[in-house]
Amino acid sequence: EERILEVKNLCTGFEVDGQTVRAVDGVSFHVDRGEIISIVGESGSGKSVTQMSILQLIRKPGRIMAGEVLLDGQDILKYPADSEEMRKIRGGRISMIFQEPMTSLNPVLRVGEQIKECILLHHKMTNQEAEERTLQLLRDVGIKNEKIRKDEYPHQFSGGMRQRIMIAIALAAGADILIADEATTALDVTTQAQLLEMMKELVKRYHSSLIIVTHNLGIVARYAQRIYVMYAGEILESGDTQQIFAHPSHPYTRGLLKAIPRLDDDKERVLEPIDGLPPDLADKSAYCAFEPRCKYAGRDCREKNKPVLHETDKGHFAACHLEAEELDEAEKNFEKRT
Ligand code: SF4
Ligand code: MG
Repeated sequence: EERILEVKNLCTGFEVDGQTVRAVDGVSFHVDRGEIISIVGESGSGKSVTQMSILQLIRKPGRIMAGEVLLDGQDILKYPADSEEMRKIRGGRISMIFQEPMTSLNPVLRVGEQIKECILLHHKMTNQEAEERTLQLLRDVGIKNEKIRKDEYPHQFSGGMRQRIMIAIALAAGADILIADEATTALDVTTQAQLLEMMKELVKRYHSSLIIVTHNLGIVARYAQRIYVMYAGEILESGDTQQIFAHPSHPYTRGLLKAIPRLDDDKERVLEPIDGLPPDLADKSAYCAFEPRCKYAGRDCREKNKPVLHETDKGHFAACHLEAEELDEAEKNFEKRT
């Protein structure tokens, strides 16, 4: 395997009333070539700020305080945000796909032109070659009648189709790491699934990598080989998707999993959202960040230091003072009581 991106101990803070609020607080993760990973968390957990930090798109009063972002082993945080190197990396190596493609697409330019422009910007090609490549990309992202549709404008496409065009543009630039930040959130479940299937297929074909950033542990994160669960700027659990679903080892992940309506269940399931609100990041304590919302919290949790990520199983990490068995035991006791 080839480690294409590795984020090490990333910290990004925002200056608020003379205080530094750590929106990203010691985050580490990696993605290999050809791999799909997912970063899962509620809104405000710091998952988008993490991705923006990777591309050095953080603006004042925010700043990257510490950490490394290794792209092919090279720390790209060493490049100034406005350097030529960073400009080449944004789009050319790492491309972001957002929820609302209308804001990134040019409304008055035909979609084929936008894709072609991007190809010519990043590759030495003749106009004819770029035209052919444009048609190929439109076919790759599943847009039929590409010879006709290339001459249409963004508003003539549906939301799902516009996302496909955004993906075509990312691939046109030659990006080998795609970051989809809640890219499918606004779409209905069927369209989401189709889009994710297609991205999975493209990752395979282009031997690129995909980072799915989502609050949806149920549908979206399932497309990933590995999952990182983020909360209050930290990663609380990580592991293979199967491990996370079969043996969630952090109370927060357990809560997220319970909140998923099951498709294979014909009984109407009551959603069990996790009580409480994400913490005010300015007010992060020295002990477990999840403690105020944790139904497993004991006195121990307040007396011990902050739990750090530790391996609970091969390749499976969690940051909780309790072992999975202790969580299971507590779970049984809750059930007895209710
Ligand atoms: Fe809950 Fe304690 Fe584990 Fe934190 S350390 S998640 S409070 S059980
Ligand atoms: Mg976000």
